[in-house]
Amino acid sequence: MKTARKTAWRLSALGTALVLASLAQAQEAKPAEQPLQSLPYTPSLDLSAMDRTADPCEDLYQYACGGWNKNNPIPDDQARWSVYAKAANDNQRYLWGILEKLAQPAAAGETRSASQAKIGDYFAACMDEAAVAKNGLAALKPLMSRIEGMKDKSELPFVLAALHQNTHNNRIFFSFGSGQDFADSTRQIAFAATGGLSLPERDYYLKTDAKSRELRAKFQAHVARIFELMGDAKPQAAANARLVLSVETALAKASLSVVDKRDPYKSFHRYTAKQLQALIPDFDFPAYQSAQDLTPQQEFNVTEPAFYKALGQQWKRLPVADLRTMLRWQLASSMAPYLGPDFVNEHFEFFSKTLHGVPKQQARWKKCVTLVDGQLGEALGQEFVARNFSPELKAATIRMTEQIEVEMGKSIQALPWMSDDTKKRALEKLHSIVNKVGYPDQWRDYSRFAVLREDFVGNVMRGQAFERRRDLGKIGQPLDRGEWGMTPQTVNAYYNAQMNDINFPAGVLQPPLYDAKLDDAPNYGNTGGTIGHELVHGFDDEGRQFDAKGNLKDWWTKKDAKAFEQRAACVSKQYAQYKVIDDIRINSKLTLGEDLADLGGLVLAWAAWQTQIAGKQLPTVDGLTPEQRFFVGFAQWDCSDTRPEAARVHAATDPHSPGRYRINGVAVNMPEFEKAFACKPGQAMVKPAAERCKVW
Ligand SMILES: [Zn+2]
Repeated sequence: MKTARKTAWRLSALGTALVLASLAQAQEAKPAEQPLQSLPYTPSLDLSAMDRTADPCEDLYQYACGGWNKNNPIPDDQARWSVYAKAANDNQRYLWGILEKLAQPAAAGETRSASQAKIGDYFAACMDEAAVAKNGLAALKPLMSRIEGMKDKSELPFVLAALHQNTHNNRIFFSFGSGQDFADSTRQIAFAATGGLSLPERDYYLKTDAKSRELRAKFQAHVARIFELMGDAKPQAAANARLVLSVETALAKASLSVVDKRDPYKSFHRYTAKQLQALIPDFDFPAYQSAQDLTPQQEFNVTEPAFYKALGQQWKRLPVADLRTMLRWQLASSMAPYLGPDFVNEHFEFFSKTLHGVPKQQARWKKCVTLVDGQLGEALGQEFVARNFSPELKAATIRMTEQIEVEMGKSIQALPWMSDDTKKRALEKLHSIVNKVGYPDQWRDYSRFAVLREDFVGNVMRGQAFERRRDLGKIGQPLDRGEWGMTPQTVNAYYNAQMNDINFPAGVLQPPLYDAKLDDAPNYGNTGGTIGHELVHGFDDEGRQFDAKGNLKDWWTKKDAKAFEQRAACVSKQYAQYKVIDDIRINSKLTLGEDLADLGGLVLAWAAWQTQIAGKQLPTVDGLTPEQRFFVGFAQWDCSDTRPEAARVHAATDPHSPGRYRINGVAVNMPEFEKAFACKPGQAMVKPAAERCKVW
């Protein structure tokens, strides 16, 4: 984003993980919200969201967003709330209305296209909560039987293949899929990546402070309860939970930290089949692949060899009965959100309430819309785009994107700290970036995904199997440059370093983010800033390591790289001072890429806006000058609030800084802001000129 930054090797794993996380809930007797027949309108500069008693020179965020925070308490079913989250929730309510109609063949006049019938029937099956409750654990029986029938470790590759094919595989020991070769982005190769952790990241298993220990105790109790729900007696369930925590801790120790995961070189290890096999000697990897109808590959990117080594040790050490226990846990936990109410509630209690502080489960319809979005997202996207993304809107936002790219070119040429050689290659990279706006040129074909109106959990599993076949089918095939990593209705955007493309789904080009009814000032501040943000990701501390073709290849001179790092360190130092919650400050090594993109993005948006309005006389509106409206429009993209529990998870795992700092941290580095509000030296939002950070 603006909230998600995606690089291909994380894409498949993240994509599914997000769906699952937001599905941790079901169950609510009376939905308070109603479906929307059209998307609601909120202006991209919203006076009611402001707090004009605040001084922008002391706190721009409070000035622009104070009213929003007052008027928008975090809903009971959310961990955090923001302008983006609210827009996404509105999209969901709107899609709910569409799906409700498509779920009734008669009401739809029997005119449903094949793809409309598919999403309508999927939604209908999901909404039939009584049927889901009645089925309980039954849908998992065949896979549970496979696990229980495993008498010898040599069967593990076959059982794991079956589990990975039908469930969210990232949880079950490791994940396996396709990805672009870091050294040659035109090739799609097999990726053997990590998995096996139930908690958000490695430090949750390793930290020894009181809060962390308390959370682990609660996690262990949760695991025990899931085993009890599967029918285990209390003492056995408790012993199983101890085993789960100890095995996951061993895997956590061998996993990279969230900061190290940002270093692409640490996730790039081209291994032969023999080298991979040596890490996990007791696991027949070719058999695991053959069991999924794959020709065993000779070459892999083993993203974290140390993890595989630890996994191999666990597989060697654990008796087969313990392996069965681990598999039962991982299967039940990854499928819990789709099972009967006991599992759904228990999953919610730990992962949403305890971990993120969410008081109440989401309504069933929301869970179902999220699932359609996750499993049939582009079929749903066609409905969204047909109604909400006109050719005019597409043309206008493409134009803005191109303007900002022109400004980036000018900015690179003018950089005082970069040599001509590096500039040449930076410009080459800039000019190679592909702009993807709105929706894909080619819609995904879901014809091989069979949806049954009476079989919700079966649909979920077939959807996962469909996605897995699609993903694995890419290995060894030519790269599809038209593929999107987000659905068109998503309120978000991303840069992909290996594709070297920027992607703006139709969902993020709507009010209050892009507002066709308003003038340029707030639009350049808001959407212009987003476009600039994604563009700068190609040149942040991580993105700059990839060249114009999307290959991990150093194109910088040593001196220029050092100059970049010095300038980036200014930003890192600034953000490290900001507090997230209690005594937890921003881990600015984790957020550096996003913080650089935020700052560079707005600098570019400002320049593009200046070009756009050159020679025009712009009026003061509602007591705000055009320049002030640019900055308020910018700030209002991320009015937001987070529950304390979720803020802790955010600080540990999220590469984005909290909203307040994404606003104030940027403006404080821009002399244009200081001038727009006539701020004076000594005020909180004024940095002495020599201390301002600027990279791009
Ligand atoms: Zn970003």
